[in-house]
Amino acid sequence: MDFEIGSTRIFNCPVCGVDTPHSIRAHKDVNYGIVCTNCNSGAIVHELDLRIYQLKWEEELREILDNLVEQSFGKDDD
Ligand SMILES: [Zn+2]
Repeated sequence: MDFEIGSTRIFNCPVCGVDTPHSIRAHKDVNYGIVCTNCNSGAIVHELDLRIYQLKWEEELREILDNLVEQSFGKDDD
């Protein structure tokens, strides 16, 4: 699966130093040009780096969601 140009993906911005949404601006071979939506810094990243980061992020997100669901079910009698 390719990342769509114009879509936004979470990536670790080297300038901000945190995970921020990055806008996908360009795609050439295995590389993507992405721009941090927080500080507007551009970066070239390998497709695999972006994909691995995405998987890692989605996994963490799923864990957070699972915890939230568990909590809301646990507090059902409120
Ligand atoms: Zn940034």
